[in-house]
Amino acid sequence: MPLIDARLLRMSQLYAPTLKEDPVDAELPSHQLLLRAAMIRKVAAGVYSFLPLGFRVLRKVEQIVREEQDRIGAQEMIMSIIQPAELWHESGRWDVYGPELMRFNDRHDHGFALSPTQEELITSLVRDELRSYRELPKSLYHIQWKYRDEIRPRFGLLRGREFVMKDAYSFHATQESLQEHYDEQSAAYGRICDRLGLEWRPVEADSGQIGGSVTTEFMALAEAGEDGIFYCDCGFAANMVVAQAGYELEEYRPHETEGKLTKLHTPGVTTIEELAAHLSINEKSTVKALAGRDEEGQSYVLFIPGNHNLAGIKIDRILPGFTLLTDEELEQAQLVKGFLGPIGLPEGIRVIADPSLKELPCWLTGANEVDYHVAGATLGRDFSVDTWADITEALPGDACPVCGLPLKDARGIEVGQVFQLGTKYSESMKATFMDVDGTEKHFIMGCYGWGVTRSIAALVEQHYDEQGIIWPMSVTPAEVAVIPLASGDELVEPTAESLAELLTQEGIEVVIDDRDERAGVKFNDADLIGWPFQLIVGKRGLESETVELKVRATGEKTSLALQEAVKTIVALVEEQRKLYL
Ligand code: ATP
Ligand code: MG
Repeated sequence: MPLIDARLLRMSQLYAPTLKEDPVDAELPSHQLLLRAAMIRKVAAGVYSFLPLGFRVLRKVEQIVREEQDRIGAQEMIMSIIQPAELWHESGRWDVYGPELMRFNDRHDHGFALSPTQEELITSLVRDELRSYRELPKSLYHIQWKYRDEIRPRFGLLRGREFVMKDAYSFHATQESLQEHYDEQSAAYGRICDRLGLEWRPVEADSGQIGGSVTTEFMALAEAGEDGIFYCDCGFAANMVVAQAGYELEEYRPHETEGKLTKLHTPGVTTIEELAAHLSINEKSTVKALAGRDEEGQSYVLFIPGNHNLAGIKIDRILPGFTLLTDEELEQAQLVKGFLGPIGLPEGIRVIADPSLKELPCWLTGANEVDYHVAGATLGRDFSVDTWADITEALPGDACPVCGLPLKDARGIEVGQVFQLGTKYSESMKATFMDVDGTEKHFIMGCYGWGVTRSIAALVEQHYDEQGIIWPMSVTPAEVAVIPLASGDELVEPTAESLAELLTQEGIEVVIDDRDERAGVKFNDADLIGWPFQLIVGKRGLESETVELKVRATGEKTSLALQEAVKTIVALVEEQRKLYL
């Protein structure tokens, strides 16, 4: 049996079992369509095989990522998936990574992990052999399977337990050098998004398990995205979990007493909602107080705008192990539940407030006395704040922290993230080089992750319709589908074959649907799989020496003179290709 000619795909030979029905356990369009269009098949929860068509897409995405890494001087290599536990002990992450890290023992009872990321391995790889500042900077990357035992593997390729990542790691002698490569990587990520055909935004982010402080996430905008984003036309954009909330004073309504410190009798009013209703005021014009303590037992009262919530990730960064006080603990600390305020707090309690509250002329908040609140509490005059810290979860409409206009919100899929790691891993793993002044210094490191398989799902979330996938030209499994109607016809079949051959000779990736199937079946599969250009060769058209060209993205159909068809299509494909260079 002939093998598939990789230049000219034949539907009659291709292993592409498309599905008519939506698979039952697939919720998102990308998941359903990647299964239905015979791109992937499920092996286990969060584990997928790539069928020939899906594999072609995967290879193309990888190639674009590779070209953009090579272009900025990152060097491709390949590192093992299996990692010895010792390396993870060295960095300290064996204990903190948690159950997401897939661990196993070999026959000698040595511990190992399947790589969820590669900081440990690469640091151990270079530490003995990258010795001098003269050899720096170095940036190394690989495109490799990753393993994370996600608590909820779902949505097909979006959150897998086995997935392909491009991960790059860079080593520098100076912060300036790291910044330079970080900027190059960020620019490369932007180009990757553009070349894949993604609508995207770079956003400020949290560094999570990886560590470091400066980090950017690259978000593909999609309703199905698991991440919330706040953004503004001025260019500001941040992940919801770290976005800073500014105060929008327009909606602030001072209490009728204005700036005078006034005690208000508010019997039984212990929540912001009740307080706002009781005083006929909006929640935003009140100040919410919460009491908690850090892991060392220090107690705090935190103040945020009344209509907002505390942001867990932000608190955790400034007060590791922070928990809210229980009723019992409140009592012990002599704090009055439901009526907390900044005036007259017991000794030793520290006050942290969100900087957005600096905008308020005065605060309407608890009086630290049962059944009382205060209005007109004025910062500096009536109370002080020990620490100002961003601890509030932003809301749509909050003032942009950069320009003050109302923030907008969107959903996104994180397709990539870049980090400045600093010396986190080089210190814990003792990786040093000889600097220009003759002293041993720790490498300053960066790391740069791109979700290769996730970005395929993100692409489909942005490019589909009722009929199926609409592949951008840069990653489509083939560029042009030639679809002969009436197989066996003495004119149709050879014409279609020769068109396919001529297009192939022009360097176009062609698939021919040479199956003995009805027109409807061929059309449906062509749209489901998502071939960007479909050239339909039918008996009736040929009588007048024409063929029909269908553009998948627009559904537009045009009749082409047979003589002109190849030339026209080559021009169209080349024009499309240029959009993604
Ligand atoms: P998430 O917050 O979505 O769990 P992450 O921030 O933990 O992702 P990173 O450690 O930054 O992920 O990994 C780099 C990239 O790898 C991510 O930007 C994402 O594109 C991809 N990725 C991470 N986890 C998964 C997964 N479970 N399935 C598919 N791709 C993933
Ligand atoms: Mg990330």
